[in-house]
Amino acid sequence: MTPGETVEPLISAEQIETRLQGLADEIIRDYGEKPIILLCALTGGVIFLADLSRKLGNNTTIDFVRASSYGDGTVSNGKVRLDCHPKLDLASKDVLVVEDIIDTGHTLAYLKKYLEDMNVASVRVCALLDKPSRREVPEAQADYLGFSIPDEFVVGYGLDYAQRYRNLPYVGILKL
Ligand code: 5GP
Ligand code: MG
Repeated sequence: MTPGETVEPLISAEQIETRLQGLADEIIRDYGEKPIILLCALTGGVIFLADLSRKLGNNTTIDFVRASSYGDGTVSNGKVRLDCHPKLDLASKDVLVVEDIIDTGHTLAYLKKYLEDMNVASVRVCALLDKPSRREVPEAQADYLGFSIPDEFVVGYGLDYAQRYRNLPYVGILKL
């Protein structure tokens, strides 16, 4: 850890593990034997994808997308672009977006529109974390949600600060 930075634990590895099993149960209940494409939003979603996918059945395939905000500042401002596109042909497929966190909702709204324009059969969203108090796009919601959290900057379990802390096994609040 960089001097002056601390991470205050918020959600433990055990809590994540238990909640992921709950999410997997919900997803299996809803999709049954239907094939699903798990579309992981890089980079933050990658640890979540790895753990969640191993709790789902054999009818899943995995692909990746990377959405970045551009413009000024560190907070997404609605100007989103994709700099890594899916490899699979998603037309007529049931796509489940696997996201680390929904904050303002701009990234997710962009991604959902992008997928709908590709004529997917369905798109649902599984997010590990949600900061509802920060939402600017009300319709950007998770269909499957791990944890709702307060308006704090969190790291760990895929989420970074300057590309660090992604490999922490828990989610914590970054204190600078
Ligand atoms: P949105 O477009 O919903 O505002 O932004 C979502 C993206 O912002 C997430 O995928 C994530 O990359 C980043 N983000 C939002 N809140 C946090 C946070 O508390 N910690 C980290 N590490 N990233 C966040
Ligand atoms: Mg993300």
